Amino acid sequence: MKKIQSLLLAIAVLAITAQCATVPVTGRSQLSLIPNSQILPMSFNQFTEVKNTSKIITTGEEAAMVRRCGTKIQRAVEQYFRERNLSNQLDGFEWEYILIDENTVNAWAMPGGKVAFYKGILPVTKNETGMAVVMGHEIAHIVANHGRERISQTLAAQTGLSLAAIAAGGGESSLNGDMILQAAGAASNLGLLKFSRTHEKEADQLGLYFMALAGYNPQEAVAFWERMSAMSEGNAPPEFLSTHPSYGTRMSELKKNMPKALEYYNKAK
Ligand SMILES: [Zn+2]
Repeated sequence: MKKIQSLLLAIAVLAITAQCATVPVTGRSQLSLIPNSQILPMSFNQFTEVKNTSKIITTGEEAAMVRRCGTKIQRAVEQYFRERNLSNQLDGFEWEYILIDENTVNAWAMPGGKVAFYKGILPVTKNETGMAVVMGHEIAHIVANHGRERISQTLAAQTGLSLAAIAAGGGESSLNGDMILQAAGAASNLGLLKFSRTHEKEADQLGLYFMALAGYNPQEAVAFWERMSAMSEGNAPPEFLSTHPSYGTRMSELKKNMPKALEYYNKAK
């Protein structure tokens, strides 16, 4: 935590430049106040911390499937970026896929290529294609830099400046160390960032395309979300659903994005 704070203070002094970035594929403009070159080392440190303090399953078919599925989608994404001369957007990424031995129905991603699945989500993903739905979604959060955007938004909110003012380049002189320290609160929990509805919708869309590009049938996403939704009937919804869009919204978005995903799938087959 101390390291992150001093790092962020250094960022405050040296590197805060007002800027926006563009999300690949969707073309949405997003706030980007801190470069990946500064976010990624923080993320990697935290991921190491998670690995050191959790029970990680490294052997057996399930762990192998997590790695295989992640690597397949990663390669497809890398190829997609290469073909569009966007590979530099993946600079510094260190992809890694782990399976944590806990019965939580959840998965998450950290900036720079780190993905974790909990054992508890495997009965819902059921098979490798079902896993690809969740893996595509998590890889989409990473590739779209949703973590960086969340931190930037927190930082912007704490400065009390409007995003428009920052985008116009007027924000730099108003940032101070306290504000950066507060943003460290958000940055210190990269794996547990609460993404916005916009982020979740975008991750669903990109995730569907990414699984299809990797040769996984995107139509399986419908069955997966049905299984996930069935789990939420009665008791509290699974963690993976609680911060995500409602079932109805998700299904109508899936339908909307399916033709393009099937195009990618038919080319990848
Ligand atoms: Zn998500």
